[in-house]
Amino acid sequence: MPYKACIKQKSGKIHDLLRIFLPLECPVCGGVPFDDSPNMLCAGCFQQLQFLQPPYCPMCGGELHGFLDVCESCLVNGKRQWDGAFSAFRMDGLLKDLLHKCKYEKQPDAGYLVGKLCLMAMADRMPQVDYIIPVPLHWTRYLMRGFNQSEIYAKVLSEGTGIPLCHALRRKKYTKQQAKLDRNERKSNLSGAFSIFDSTILKKRAILLVDDVMTTGATLSAAARTVKRAGASKVYVFTVARRQRN
Ligand SMILES: [Zn+2]
Ligand SMILES: [Zn+2]
Repeated sequence: MPYKACIKQKSGKIHDLLRIFLPLECPVCGGVPFDDSPNMLCAGCFQQLQFLQPPYCPMCGGELHGFLDVCESCLVNGKRQWDGAFSAFRMDGLLKDLLHKCKYEKQPDAGYLVGKLCLMAMADRMPQVDYIIPVPLHWTRYLMRGFNQSEIYAKVLSEGTGIPLCHALRRKKYTKQQAKLDRNERKSNLSGAFSIFDSTILKKRAILLVDDVMTTGATLSAAARTVKRAGASKVYVFTVARRQRN
């Protein structure tokens, strides 16, 4: 576990007082958060998380196994539209439940918790960028859900790193869920899906695009292509979790 050092129980009167006034319990099991901050996991739940371990695939940010320079999925999917990719967790267990809670059970608090965990995972490998841009939802989907989960993760990363958040990217086309389509349908589904509000903002800027999960990377590719066409010098992508077979 890379973050064992974080799991120290703090003690003292201030923390005892905080516990009286703030809802400090672990949102999963009701235990005491390992760092005594509100809406944080207890040590037991934290240890269930599966942080991705190096070496990482440079094309998708997932884990590399074997002797190849890129993962199996990137070999199949070919060159990406971005300059580097980062991911924090395996799409499994507790993390999968938290993402599900946020996205489908409409619990943004689970999203803020995941955002804080991403910040820990990225502490020593955050790329040098000018702006963080969440992958946007189409406005109809935004209205249905009430929030954009990627925006929550992007916001927490922005607050934790001081890198400004930018909302220059817009989803102008209502796309079907990629998972329900075949390979060809996926490509046409995302064609023209994104546009830019004001491209002058992005000229010669390095950008980090943030999304929740990468499966094939087609959505992020379409978003990255749009940002690059608007003049961005570098585009990196970050996903909370990388769905990998191996
Ligand atoms: Zn717990
Ligand atoms: Zn890969």
